[in-house]
This record gives sequence, C-alpha cells and structure tokens, in this order.
Amino acid sequence: MHVPSRFLPLALGFAAVTVARAAPEASSLRAPTSLAPSGLEAAFIDRSVRPGDDFFRYANGAWLGGTEIPPDRSAWGASGELDERLRVQTREILEAAALSKAAAGSLEGKVGDFYAAAMDEAAAQSKGIAPLKPALSRITALKTKADLATYLGEELRADVDAMDCTSFQTSRLFGLWVAPQLDAPTRNVPYLLQGGLGMPDREYYLSTAPAMVETRDKYRAHVETIFKLAGIKDAAKRAARVVDLETKMARVHATRQESLEVKDANNPWPTAEWTKQAPGLDWTRFFRASGLAEQPVVFAWHPKATAGLSALVAHEPLDAWKDWATFHVVDRRSPFLGKAFQDEAFAFYGRVLSGTAEQAARWKRAQTWMDDFMGEAVGRLFVERHFTPAAKAKASEMVKAITAAFVRRIDALDWMAPSTKAEAKAKVKALYVGVGYPDRWQDWSGLEVRRDDLVGNVDRASLFHRQQELAKLGKPVDRTAWCMNPHIVNAVNLPARNALSIPAGILQLPYFDPDGPAAVNYASIGGTIGHEVSHSFDDQGALFDSTGKLRNWWTKEDLAHFQASGTELAKQFDGYRPFPDLHINGKQTLSENIADLAGLAAAHDAWIGTLGGAPAPVVKGFSGEQQFFLAYAQSWRTKFRDPLMRQLVVTDGHAPDPYRAQTVRNFDAWYAAFEVKPGETLYLGAKERVRVW
Ligand SMILES: [Zn+2]
Repeated sequence: MHVPSRFLPLALGFAAVTVARAAPEASSLRAPTSLAPSGLEAAFIDRSVRPGDDFFRYANGAWLGGTEIPPDRSAWGASGELDERLRVQTREILEAAALSKAAAGSLEGKVGDFYAAAMDEAAAQSKGIAPLKPALSRITALKTKADLATYLGEELRADVDAMDCTSFQTSRLFGLWVAPQLDAPTRNVPYLLQGGLGMPDREYYLSTAPAMVETRDKYRAHVETIFKLAGIKDAAKRAARVVDLETKMARVHATRQESLEVKDANNPWPTAEWTKQAPGLDWTRFFRASGLAEQPVVFAWHPKATAGLSALVAHEPLDAWKDWATFHVVDRRSPFLGKAFQDEAFAFYGRVLSGTAEQAARWKRAQTWMDDFMGEAVGRLFVERHFTPAAKAKASEMVKAITAAFVRRIDALDWMAPSTKAEAKAKVKALYVGVGYPDRWQDWSGLEVRRDDLVGNVDRASLFHRQQELAKLGKPVDRTAWCMNPHIVNAVNLPARNALSIPAGILQLPYFDPDGPAAVNYASIGGTIGHEVSHSFDDQGALFDSTGKLRNWWTKEDLAHFQASGTELAKQFDGYRPFPDLHINGKQTLSENIADLAGLAAAHDAWIGTLGGAPAPVVKGFSGEQQFFLAYAQSWRTKFRDPLMRQLVVTDGHAPDPYRAQTVRNFDAWYAAFEVKPGETLYLGAKERVRVW
C-alpha cells in the first residue's frame, strides 16, 4: 500500500500517463561507474557540522556542497543516481536483444522486437495516423447508446490498482483491478474503479486555485490540438465538449482520500444487479464486451461514482461521448506517433503537468514503454544479468533477521494486549516476502510482438494484460505475485496478500552490497525492509489480518495507545522548517515517520543480532554504530530544488529525505556513537525519544 518515496521521479509521476512518467528523467548519459559508490562514503561527511546539530548535513555536507542537480531534474541523490545506472544497464540489455538473433517468439526475441519498434522514430513519422485508423473507425460506427456500452466494455483494461502499486487514474470510463476478495482473500475477484478523466484527479477540473484554472485552460487547448493533428474538423467545439463531459465526470468522482478508504470499497454487486445499482449504462453489453459477463459478482470500489458515471452515459449526448472517445484514442497513442504528436504529448503531460523542461531521450521513453507493457519480461532479463543468487540469499537472510527482530519488539511491548500480540505474531509468521523478483515468471507466449508495429504492440500488450488478469478470476490467489517490475528502485507492501516485494532494482549499491559491511546493509536496505514490514502492523496494517482478510485485529485500547504515541513524533516533525514560512506537517507524514522509526529499530536489532555478541569490525575508521547511523543518513542523500521541496512538504505523505535521516535522534545508540550532548539542536532527553514499537 505504501510505496516509500526512495525514487522521486516515480513518486511524482502519474502512473497511468505514460509520457508523464517518462518526463522527469535526466536526458543525458552519465558514466555509470562513477555513480552510486558504496553505502558509506567518508568523503561525503562535513566535519565542520556537529552530528548532534544536523546529522543529515554532517553525513552528507561535503556531497551537498560538491553536487549540482542536473538541469533536467528537480532533485538528485542516491536514488536518482541508482535509477540512472539501472537505465544504462537496461539499455544495454534491450539493445542486445534488438540486435540478437533470438527466435522471434522467444522472450528475448519479443523484448528485442518491441524495443526495435519503439526506437524506430522514422517509421512512426512516416506512418502518420494510419495506425489509428481501425480504432477511429470503430468509434465512427457507434450509432446508439447500446453500441456505446459495448464499446466501453471492449475498451476496459486492467490499468488501475487500488491498494498495492496504488494507481487510481485511467482515461477509460472504468478501470479493472483483479485482486483478492477483501473479506475472503483466498480467491481473486474483479473490482471496477472510476475513470474517464484525462487529467490526474478531479481536483484538476473543480479546483478554483489559479494554477489549476490555468492548467485546465491548457488542457482544453491540448485536446483541441490533438483533434487538429488527427485531422478532425471542428476541433475547438469538440475540445470544449470533451472537457465539459470530463468536468461532469469529475463532479461525481470520489476524492483521492475517499478512494483510499478500503472499508467503503467492499461492495460486491451481483453482476445482474448493476443495472439497478447504477442505472444508465447498458451493463449487460458492457460486461459481455469486457469479458466479465460470466462473473457472478463484480465489486464496485467507487459505488457513488459508478452510479454517477453510468447516469452520465444515459444523459449526455452520444456525440459528446464519441468526441471524448476519439480524443482519448488518439491522445493515449500520441507518444508512439510522429514528432508533432510526441511533442504535443510532452508539452502537456511533461511540461504543464510535471514542470519538466526537457523531453527525455528516445531510448529512455522507449524503456518506459517497455516497463509499462512488457515490464516483467525486461525485469527477467535484468535479473539474469544484474542480480546474483548470492545477492538474493543475502537479502533473504536479512529479511528473516529483520522480521524476527520485529516479533521480539512486539513481544516486549508493555501496552499491547496479548490477543493483539498473538495476531501480530501470526501475521509476521505468515508474511510472504518476495526478494528480487517473483517466484514464477509471467508467460508471454500469448503476446504477439511485431518489429514494425509499435502502436499495434502497445494495443496488443494492453489487451493481453487484461486477458491475463481476467484468467485469474475465481482462481486461488497467488500470494507470491508482484505488482511491481523487478528492475526498479522501490519496494511495496501488499496488504491483501500479507506480502512485501523488494525488487532487485533497489537491492543494489548504494543501498545494498552482498559483500559489504553488515552495519551498512542493515541501516540502508534494512531500514527500507523494516519500513515496509512495519506497515503491516500500523493503523492501515491493522485492517488486514494474517491471511490478508479485511478484519481489524487491534483492540480499541491498543489503537488509542498507538495513536497517542504518534503525537510525540508528529510534534518532532512539526519542528522542522525547510523554509521560514513552512514547516513539515507532522500529522500528514506520521504513518511514514512511524514506519521509518520502527523499520530502523528492527533493522538495528537485527544487525546487532548478526554480531553474536562480538564487537563490530571497524570500517574506514568508523565503529559499527557509527557505520550504521551514517549509512542510514547517507541513504537519504538527496538535494532538492526549492519548488519541489515546497511541493513535497505540502502534498507528500513522506517527510522530505533530509528529515527522514534525522530519525536517528530517537535512538540511544546514536547518542553514544556520536557523543551527542544536551544543548545540541537534535538532542532529545531520554524521555522525549519516541519509541512506538
Ligand atoms: Zn511507507
């Protein structure tokens, strides 16, 4: 449920809008070997800063002083450097696959053909809008609302995810998410989520803030330009109609906060009753065309919005719907067409929505498309080359040690009821942790990839994905399945599977080195593993039991205590001021700050456990404890441009990286390791140091 913002470009992107995800990346190539050195670099330290005054600056001050943020990024640091290196490594794999003589139907052959098609800019240019012709004629042929219902069903894709790799945006009228049933998580069921908007959220349509109003105007202009580029007449009139229809959809949409309320989302509607629950759309035709007709029950994640959108299908004119469908058919494929379309897509989704100045190089955009449409196949080739069995074994061993440390900490709590403790321990015991990559690789044999047909590849891959997801319905849940590509810098907690995924992409330097010092590994990747584990046991984790079932297993008293212990930590973070007029919001960032604190505590215990009572080896002149806390602070090494820092403070659920590093001030061991004394800025008396778990 919680993706730790290790990797800013992804966290800031809009998952369903391909080009926006590609946009925040650097476009220049950097020498990969000079980046992301070890997890503990003495040269980064600024010894003129007292550790007790500003530990982040002490650990990273020399690096901060000597580093410039690349012109096409809004932040730069450990995660950005690693992302850059992974992209270069992945590029080598994709280029080799494209050049190889691998059989056309083999995995490497398909990956190579997809990449070759994606890189063929000249072909995209010369084809013009020819690749769109079948999709456009399909819309022209719609004569009735019944036809429209069939069309909307055909267009349904498995392109949203409400709880795992959370993504709520789709420009199709509804999005399909196949996932474990909330109150019976042994079988997979279909959820329909609200959709239909081209911009990321209803706020973009309804807010009266001047910046949002301006974005809206630019969106209308973008829609008009897309119609013109596609050679469709009355572009301005049609654009107005599209934005008007989407604004009506936005009015019935749930807010982001409402979308996250899992308890309100558990609405099993018998398939035959959708017409009664949400009148307007011809659901019989919709379900038949989307492959859901055989399902006894389809879950409505957004019941009110579903009814609202369905009513709009009945009440809004067919021509408005056809304009809307036409715009999206072209817009979704714009990044894969000629230069004018690509530039227009970037101008809106990259520049206007994400503030990016420069479009990423073609090979990086191609890589992002591969990640979206054949991600696990690329990940498989990456893992074969850049993630050794020894690394997997070492990381798995760390996961075991950290979860065991977590159990010991729960056992030692004096405030938690024995019944809650027992459930918590059962949950740890049943936790499945995917390390590096999924146990079972996806089968791509049913996907047809052509070397000369980029738009066709994208269309076939998205339909193939829907078929793969539909095939899981009614079948037992595979708790080992992933929602995240193996080759990205991130990690995720999957609440309904009681599972975590720790991708090979983050099990790399500077976060993890299978041959590196234990203190450094446990602080850095160990802190992240601990962070994800702890989400299984916080106020959100309390909603799902050891089997992944939606069932609160906390007593009221336990929950009250947990919430009270958070107030001290919230106060601590309220005290940080990145700008004179703006402080961190301790409440908004509380869950994540608790996860950092609890995760680091479990990782610290686990590391101490590895020593077996012996003193830790001194490395680069640092004691074990010094290595541990320095590596933690260096793992959050990031430099921000002020506007991004401001935006994160206002909107993000995580505190900005430098403040996450200051978590160390709650650890007695940190005071001893760096001789931190009363009067120093970060100093807390023994009683003020927060211990939640
Ligand atoms: Zn988190």
